[in-house]
Amino acid sequence: MEGKYFIKDHNEEINKHEHVIFEFEDGTDLRYHDTRKFGRMNLVLKEDLETVEGVHKQGIEPIDPKLSKEYLYENFHKKKLPMKSLLLDQTIISGLGNIYADEVLFASGIYPEKLGVDITMDECDKIVSSSKRIIEEAIKCGGTTIRSYTSSLGVTGRFQQNLMVHKREGETCKNCGTIIKRIVVGGRSTYYCENCQK
Ligand SMILES: [Zn+2]
Repeated sequence: MEGKYFIKDHNEEINKHEHVIFEFEDGTDLRYHDTRKFGRMNLVLKEDLETVEGVHKQGIEPIDPKLSKEYLYENFHKKKLPMKSLLLDQTIISGLGNIYADEVLFASGIYPEKLGVDITMDECDKIVSSSKRIIEEAIKCGGTTIRSYTSSLGVTGRFQQNLMVHKREGETCKNCGTIIKRIVVGGRSTYYCENCQK
């Protein structure tokens, strides 16, 4: 939450919020900037990685080729929980936050409160392809975050312009013209198009 990395020249003055600095041989630093000090870092050997709490429980990342429709179906179809909550469950897919979960559900045509038990293999396939595409596009655009995100070059996330539903309550769906709605699912603000998402 709110932690950022910056690439800076090694000679550049250290900001008081830069708590961890990785020095590279080419004279640059990778600096971890954390105003609120919510971040945690562990120094571990690669072979011990699975023993670190929070790592062994992590699910599969969207851009990992191991993320398959079969894996998602296995993890979703026994659960009587809304799909929005299941997409945010970091032990299933790791790395989808509130913004991208809304966007993936829209791109997959899935109503956010649809339960995991009712999800089909075909829908899981759509979640796999849309989450890969959306995350890849977002990385290319330098992220999304409206408030606190800046890339290493200080550029704010341009992916906001590509958002189809998130934070677009009252605006029209870019796909069908229906008014985008906001509901709360599992305590999280959720935006969707009632016409495009069933
Ligand atoms: Zn729509």
